Amino acid sequence: SYGTSKNSLGSRTSESFGKYASPSMNEHSEEHRQLITHTMQGPGLRAATSSSHSVDEQLKNTETHLIDIVTNEIVNQGPPVDWNDIAGLDLIKAVVKEEVLWPVLRADAFNGLTALPRSILLFGPCGTGKTLLGRCIASQLGATFFKISGSGLVTKWLADAEKIVHASFLVARCRQPSVIFLSDIEMLLSSQVSEDHSPINRMRTEFLMQLDSVLSSAEDQIVVICATSKPEEIDESLRRYFMKRLLIPLPDSTARHQIIVQLLSQHSYCLNDKEVALLVQRTEGFSGLDVAHLCQEAVVGPLHAMPATDLTAIMPGQLRPVTYQDFENAFCKIQPSISQKELDTYIEWNKMFGCSQ
Ligand code: ADP
Repeated sequence: SYGTSKNSLGSRTSESFGKYASPSMNEHSEEHRQLITHTMQGPGLRAATSSSHSVDEQLKNTETHLIDIVTNEIVNQGPPVDWNDIAGLDLIKAVVKEEVLWPVLRADAFNGLTALPRSILLFGPCGTGKTLLGRCIASQLGATFFKISGSGLVTKWLADAEKIVHASFLVARCRQPSVIFLSDIEMLLSSQVSEDHSPINRMRTEFLMQLDSVLSSAEDQIVVICATSKPEEIDESLRRYFMKRLLIPLPDSTARHQIIVQLLSQHSYCLNDKEVALLVQRTEGFSGLDVAHLCQEAVVGPLHAMPATDLTAIMPGQLRPVTYQDFENAFCKIQPSISQKELDTYIEWNKMFGCSQ
């Protein structure tokens, strides 16, 4: 097991840290050492005096390019996300705060009374804020955020996918608390059987082993959040791996209002309350991402009115404000991306396997 001891969640000591730079690592290049050193540093760094050794050893034995991929493309350095950045989803936010954040942030009050849901499945239409929520959970926990795309693993890194999953969990153990966010999880956990030793199967086995290890460790401060817009494709025997399965629905009218006003506030616009209310009404059935696309399309409306020759010279202050007509034009291009049939599937799946209602 790679578990870390609870008493040792303070900073990694220079003594133990020194091991990474020791000359005994002569099988590795200076570059590799620097990479590992870099990997070990971070806001969420936690040390383990007893079992960190095995993590250290594994890190030393991990190929440089894998650590490179994890630190450069998977550890996510984006700006922190606050609850207010996520419109709507009030019920989901309440569940997450109460059942995921409080037990971690106030472990004293919860001691022994509750098992932290370390594995969460967020399912629902694309573009509804699942990634935002994952990032928000990481921000609230002060955790390192790891974003792994299931489709990226399959299409871009298939040959190395199993090793990348392994390396990601390894680095996550070094930089606890950590939130590992895996999108398109159905790509890893699909019920469609592939050949025994195929890269996909090996990746799935590695992921499940890592998840098992996270779930069985009382000390590791790692939360695994998986997201999918195709929950029905997840092998039924693997659903049990998720302690919480939460439907992330389309934004309701209040949420759409918040997204529109927030995006418009970054531009000069001339719409009255009635027109904004009309936009909210007309975007019924839109995902948060669809609403964002609509607004992005509308706010470039004033640029369309400029002669092409002036486009590069024009200053933002010289543009006319965005109007309702710009939205009228945008509606011709942007339609809701989710069908009612798809929505019904989520509602059905939620009734059978969801935890929110
Ligand atoms: P998902 O992971 O569900 O596919 P994301 O979290 O990546 O969706 O959201 C994509 C984008 O859509 C966000 O960056 C944001 O602009 C917008 N968006 C989606 N849902 C919301 C929401 N609930 N509140 C605010 N913005 C949202």
